[in-house]
Amino acid sequence: MSSNQNKISRLRGTQDIYGDTALLFQKIEQAAIRVFERYSFGELETPILEEKQLFVRALGTETDVVQKEMYEFEDRSKTQVAMRPEGTAGVVRAYLENNFDKNEGLCKFYYRGPMFRSERPQAGRLRQFHQIGVEELGTSSPYADAEVILSLCAFLEEAGATGFELKLNNLGTFEERTIYKEKLREFFKPQLKRLCEDCQKRFEKNVFRILDCKNPDCRKAISDAPTIESYLTEESKSHFDTVKSCLEAAGVKYKIDARMVRGLDYYTKTVFEVTHSKLGAQDALGAGGRYDQLIESFGGPSVGAVGFAVGVERLCLCLKSEEAISAETTTSFYVATLGPEALKAGFKILQSLRVEGLSAQMDFEAKSLKSQLRSADKAKSRYVIILGEEEMKKNICLFKDMAAKTQEEVGLKELLSICRDKK
Ligand code: AMP
Repeated sequence: MSSNQNKISRLRGTQDIYGDTALLFQKIEQAAIRVFERYSFGELETPILEEKQLFVRALGTETDVVQKEMYEFEDRSKTQVAMRPEGTAGVVRAYLENNFDKNEGLCKFYYRGPMFRSERPQAGRLRQFHQIGVEELGTSSPYADAEVILSLCAFLEEAGATGFELKLNNLGTFEERTIYKEKLREFFKPQLKRLCEDCQKRFEKNVFRILDCKNPDCRKAISDAPTIESYLTEESKSHFDTVKSCLEAAGVKYKIDARMVRGLDYYTKTVFEVTHSKLGAQDALGAGGRYDQLIESFGGPSVGAVGFAVGVERLCLCLKSEEAISAETTTSFYVATLGPEALKAGFKILQSLRVEGLSAQMDFEAKSLKSQLRSADKAKSRYVIILGEEEMKKNICLFKDMAAKTQEEVGLKELLSICRDKK
């Protein structure tokens, strides 16, 4: 058997995350945690595996995610399960299952973790990707919409993103949408043949979904479609006005996109999307909205909720192209040794540095001093401790400052306290 036949590759649309990307992921998560703490969101981690029915009921049977994209299977106990395609459904289930709905007042959660959608992979579109999001449950107040949107912008800024664009729309309530859907059907009926196959089905099952189609011919037809505005009640309009005025007061710029519907069925009233021009075709960096009937549809109280999710890989793409990866070098030490005795002593030094809480490393396969200095440089170590047979005999080492380009002899007894002072 050739070695190629033995090779197992990662699945299409999945990624190994390491190096600069892993550092960016950390930077993004830390920015999220700092900002969400400021906005009083507590962490909630829900399982990756849930009953399939949770997503079918929450997202809607006619959505692309449920129709074509869920990783679903029957497990060994014959339960139909799915790997979560998004975070909101699980948060709502957890909110009800853990009786958070019985608590007074708002429930504010943030979550982070992998999501799974069997989409056609392309730049910015993966089958396993990561989202960081927030959900604010138990409130119908437009101030909650504003708070969630402001926390989204604050998070993106804290992570180092600039140049993103915020778009808003008001989808009204399900009742208001019933009349609007009729108007849409009247509009699309005479031009059904122009629409893609999927949209022809959507026309029958959920005409609203046509507005979300990315097919260029459908997009042309959609650009003249009626907007929902004339079918909204005063209450829905004034809710949206409050959201907009909160954003204006906070100095947050936005655009109204009157035909933005978002891909999932549960949204009501405010929906929003953040895009970035550097992302190309998949330009949505994050999105969310209000979902006032979802909790009740799962047997909970009649209370509203609002949330968003940001795609971490897409945020990484924006940050990378903005060269936002900081060139911070931690004060780290590299122990370079020559010969077996020095390796043994060097390993002890390495461990005592780490016990002191210092970041230190060494190469156990080290050959030449030159190659070790190259590794130290690559690892962005600030200081190199050089130990050879000669130094061992004199109980000293060479202490090299890579930034200042200086080198001095240091007694092994003093070494640890010198390193401590450099911290
Ligand atoms: P959604 O849950 O569809 O509203 O998506 C929210 C965000 O998750 C999007 O704006 C993207 O940043 C990210 N996202 C959604 N689907 C994918 C995917 N297949 N690959 C990578 N990121 C995704």
